[in-house]
Amino acid sequence: ALVSWTLIGAVSLHQPVAEAAINLRFDARRWRRHLAAICLERLGAADFLNKSKLDSDILERSIRYALERKKAESGRSQLAAILLQTVDAVLGMDMEGNVVTWNHGAEIMFGYSAEEIIGKHVSMIAPEDQKEQSMKIRELAVVGKSISSYETVRIKKDGGLIDVSSSISPIKDLQGKVVGVSAILRDITEHKKQEEQMRLSQKMDAIGRLAGGVAHDFNNLLSVIGGNIEFLMNDLEKDGSQREEFQDIQQAVRQGAQLTKQLLVFGKKQVSQPQPINLNELSCEMNKMFKRVIDAAINLSIRQEKDLKCIQADPGQIHQVVLNLILNAQDAMPQGGKLILETRNTEIGEFEDGRDDCLPPGRYVELDVTDTGMGMTPEVQQHIFEPFFTTKAGKGTGLGLASVYAIVKAWNGFIFVHSILGSGTTFSLFFPAIDLPEEIETKPILQTLIPRGTETLLVVEDEEALRKVLVRILEKQGYHVLRSGDGAEGVQTALDYAGTIDLLLTDAMMPKMNGKELAAELKRTRPQIKVIFISGYPHEVLSQQGVLDSRIRLIQKPFEQDYVLGQIRKTLDEKADSRVAAV
Ligand code: ADP
Ligand code: MG
Repeated sequence: ALVSWTLIGAVSLHQPVAEAAINLRFDARRWRRHLAAICLERLGAADFLNKSKLDSDILERSIRYALERKKAESGRSQLAAILLQTVDAVLGMDMEGNVVTWNHGAEIMFGYSAEEIIGKHVSMIAPEDQKEQSMKIRELAVVGKSISSYETVRIKKDGGLIDVSSSISPIKDLQGKVVGVSAILRDITEHKKQEEQMRLSQKMDAIGRLAGGVAHDFNNLLSVIGGNIEFLMNDLEKDGSQREEFQDIQQAVRQGAQLTKQLLVFGKKQVSQPQPINLNELSCEMNKMFKRVIDAAINLSIRQEKDLKCIQADPGQIHQVVLNLILNAQDAMPQGGKLILETRNTEIGEFEDGRDDCLPPGRYVELDVTDTGMGMTPEVQQHIFEPFFTTKAGKGTGLGLASVYAIVKAWNGFIFVHSILGSGTTFSLFFPAIDLPEEIETKPILQTLIPRGTETLLVVEDEEALRKVLVRILEKQGYHVLRSGDGAEGVQTALDYAGTIDLLLTDAMMPKMNGKELAAELKRTRPQIKVIFISGYPHEVLSQQGVLDSRIRLIQKPFEQDYVLGQIRKTLDEKADSRVAAV
């Protein structure tokens, strides 16, 4: 110890040496090690040996020590390389929170170089509303606690925000005293975004299901209201004083039916029912509908080409397209402005350059939706059709234009956007024009023209009020009607009835036994029976659920009497081997 003491003097009382000496309480052997480490580091040696005491034991121990040291050193340099190269940001702070180390990952993640940030306070990378929280976490580390995988938001040099998962730990010296704080931050922005998208699409799915369910029940109600209104109207004198009121109710029922259709569209439960559409008629309809929805400060005008050609598409879906464009336009004009719907026939000639070189030659019907709103930057325009892209943080779903795009493409159409930041946006849609056959049968057959009937029908419907309406419609038309509230009862009713049952009119979706099962059961004993299903669900949904196959006759709720009677008459008059018999 005495010799060592002298040596300390020789290394000019190097501070840590002196401290170590005191801490080690002059333990000569360990002291010697330390001295060796300090003195010989400069020579690059791992140890030093006293010649006079050299023996094989000491030599072996020393070599082992040297090898271990070497291993530890290479481990340390590997660790340093990992810290340097990891994509995670690794930083060290002193007790006050000033940055003392800043790895390459941190430089990339935050955009500050090490020179820029070392010595500065770490709160630089915490956004204003996170500063206090981040200080509290750091204080926990200062008192020796570790916090792992704590999710928060940090701010980059360019002002952009990133989601990070961070782990904060105290840095302790050999004696276990906290001398600083380390933090490892992982960028989870992308992950968060995906999570959010997942959540959103699950939410959309749930809303869709809910909407589908509501639409179904709602259709039942509308059928009852509509059916009874028709009865009342039939009983009224031709120019009865209340006719107008009844007509208003009937109109409201039709609009309600339209609404449920949109709900079903939203719930992705739409059927594609392509038919010729005149966009002029459609935009008039939309105009009526939107008068109430649209902000009073927005001036909606419609410009139509007179002899507009028709397009082939599903009207519900085209409604959805226009609705989305109008809602977006409205969002873009919070202060009000002009909204113009414009239609025209457009022809792209063989040698003409199509718009943006993307519109092949041909005849099109064009629909332009123009607003005088805030417009978009070119960067925003690049992404607008992507699902979930929205600039309406928290308010938008980013699904509007994505579904517009999908629908337009599904009907072989094209969509272009032209927008100037600050002055407005035009979305131009092009659909292939079609030639209409000479006469189209669109008007429903009038009730007076539908022949009466005497056949026996079995009506199975679990909604009592709706069953009553159906029975009444049919009885008034002359039919003999049997009725049941569910599948099992239907089977029993058929068993109990000795005569012929010509047609089964059944709800497709019923608890316990569904329409298809009921029809199959009845056909075993009455192979000639014809079947019509009624449902609030579109055909597609029912066939997906295995309730129907596509050849089967389906009446959609809510229905109008003439339609039901027409369908029944048609089915009854069909030959026995017709498609309906294929159930
Ligand atoms: P959302 O309306 O839910 O944001 P959309 O898919 O309908 O989703 O639109 C995506 C984005 O496109 C909007 O967030 C908005 O930034 C931009 N956008 C769409 N239509 C317009 C418009 N008429 N004027 C300005 N920006 C628009
Ligand atoms: Mg939208």
